[in-house]
Amino acid sequence: MTSSPTVKFLDLERLHRDISAELEQACSTVIRSGHYIMGPELEAFELEFAQYCGVDHCLGVANGLDALRLLLMAYGIGPGDEVLVPSNTFIATWLAVSQCGATPVGVEPSSGLFNMCPSELAQKITPRTRAIIPVHLYGQTAEMDAIVAVANQHGLIVIEDAAQSQGATYHGRRSGSLGHAAATSFYPGKNLGALGDAGAVLTSDAHIAARVRMLRNYGSAVKYQHDWVGLNSRLDEIQAAMLRVKLRHLDTWNTARQRVADFYGTHISNPCVALPQTPAHMRSVWHLFVVRTPHRDALSAFLARGGVHCLIHYPIPPHRQKCYPEFAGVHFPTAEAMAAEVLSLPISPVMSDAEMSHVVSMVNQFDPLEHA
Ligand SMILES: *Cc1c(COP(=O)(O)O)cnc(C)c1O
Repeated sequence: MTSSPTVKFLDLERLHRDISAELEQACSTVIRSGHYIMGPELEAFELEFAQYCGVDHCLGVANGLDALRLLLMAYGIGPGDEVLVPSNTFIATWLAVSQCGATPVGVEPSSGLFNMCPSELAQKITPRTRAIIPVHLYGQTAEMDAIVAVANQHGLIVIEDAAQSQGATYHGRRSGSLGHAAATSFYPGKNLGALGDAGAVLTSDAHIAARVRMLRNYGSAVKYQHDWVGLNSRLDEIQAAMLRVKLRHLDTWNTARQRVADFYGTHISNPCVALPQTPAHMRSVWHLFVVRTPHRDALSAFLARGGVHCLIHYPIPPHRQKCYPEFAGVHFPTAEAMAAEVLSLPISPVMSDAEMSHVVSMVNQFDPLEHA
């Protein structure tokens, strides 16, 4: 038997090795500056990332969950309000709504895609609905024109959850600029990741930007004057400096992810594995490469034996989590089927050709009858 490579799901150490001199330089600059919170690195990053996304304002915050919460707070959404969220998303989208005292209302994805279905969305609107949080899951935007049209018809706020989609475009416009405001996360594994926790709010609404600027810092615009019951949710100088370095590489890295996705799309030919669809008006940044198969657990185990490390995003949908007992009687059949069938193959900007080929060859060798 020839030795085959072990393919990690995401090798962050390898990613950072390529730019370690830049990262270390930026880090020392902060250390020597004596300025560690709300300083020049944050200000510069906010300008650079706002410009990158095509919005007027970026506010660095502590993480993606807080970015969502701060926006809901800024829009005054709270008890008695309903917020439409995908039935299949990372739990943070739902938690942000619940933590503001509002009620998350699930909307199933469009058939064949992973994102919120605009026509089902319209059916879920009630007199209590205040906002929609479309998630650009796995790096591909939701169908934003249709979602924004529904929102406008009913006077609803659209807050993008752009945690997985830094750099993705919809009809050529960047994710983060497609609704009234957006929340993003720079968790290390995201396409643009810090070396710790971080997140941001994006918007071209000056009033909401000013509100979030206060809410993230104890509800204060002037030191020791507190106009709002705010949070302490700031993005520190070290993380802002790391993000400035990494933002300069983001487009190159997203192109490298596209290359892996193209390779998988061209060469994976196993009839029991469904590949992700890519509508022509959306450019995915391939945060994850998610395939579907009714033999998911067998495929995952087979790939693991062959050295290919996969993950499941996500194995339990939010309405089935213990923290949501009130949803026990509610069914989201599409989200439940996805949780049982999705598998995320390794994808990153630093995969070698040998690793990509090994993944494809293993997926194509899988036979549900033989490897069950
Ligand atoms: C990662 C993520 C978040 C939360 O980000 P954190 O920085 O971990 O709080 C929110 N929504 C989605 C879709 C995510 O993938």
